[in-house]
Amino acid sequence: MRYSYYDIHTHLNFSAFEADREEVFALAREVGVGVINVGTQKDTSRSAVEFAEKHEGAWAVVGLHPIHTSASYHDEQELGDGGKAFTSRGETFDYDYYRKLALHPKVVAIGECGLDYYRSMEHEAWNMEQKKQREIFALQIELAKEVRKPLMLHIRNGSSISAYRDAYDILKDKGVLGNLHFFAGTIEEAKPFLDLGFSFSFTGVITFARSYDEVIRYLPLESIMSETDAPYVAPVPYRGKRNEPSYVVEVVRKIAEIRGEDAEKVREQFVKNTRSFFGLV
Ligand SMILES: [Zn+2]
Repeated sequence: MRYSYYDIHTHLNFSAFEADREEVFALAREVGVGVINVGTQKDTSRSAVEFAEKHEGAWAVVGLHPIHTSASYHDEQELGDGGKAFTSRGETFDYDYYRKLALHPKVVAIGECGLDYYRSMEHEAWNMEQKKQREIFALQIELAKEVRKPLMLHIRNGSSISAYRDAYDILKDKGVLGNLHFFAGTIEEAKPFLDLGFSFSFTGVITFARSYDEVIRYLPLESIMSETDAPYVAPVPYRGKRNEPSYVVEVVRKIAEIRGEDAEKVREQFVKNTRSFFGLV
């Protein structure tokens, strides 16, 4: 099947889709959206692979999200069970477990991994937490190199520290490629990653927040891809609702509008970018 769009970072594997996962995916298929489900820890990584195995038009990314490295994080939409919030067990990176998953032909990247200074700033043991995030990030970079797949990066700045700068320092000489998911940095923070050949993806937040416009206009079209990060941040006109992969159409439309470019040209280029970045066939 030819895809008209790709949602390169989404979470149909999360509990938010427990009741209607198949229907939501079927609707994405109808619209022509190829879907990349992203894992955040062991269970969601495994379920992303299982879903990809069973469905044409679905791929998986496996890895450990930086906020899952501490034991305090919980999000009902991600791991909730019958409405009960789930508290992260504070995973260490089980290299062999993720390696086995990563070798699956439908696994197209390692992640989401990286540095999250926004949430970890809440921790008192900030230095320890930061050290742990860096160590676990380094292991996932090693895995990406070993299996020759790119990284799906989650990088989030703290109020006074640039996680992008730290991530760049870690990545610059590693010889791996990566996509900066939900890019929220400045042009200055984007530049060094562009030089490394990295790509950038944007979510529905760009349909209602204007702080992304400048960087969206600055980046070459060849370096951009589209995502929803569903179930979070639904685009206009679905704001406040649970997000889903078929809404990626609105993200692509908005990027074209912000850049003042032809929507069809932008859509086609994103399809090309995605196929070549993740090696989709
Ligand atoms: Zn995500």
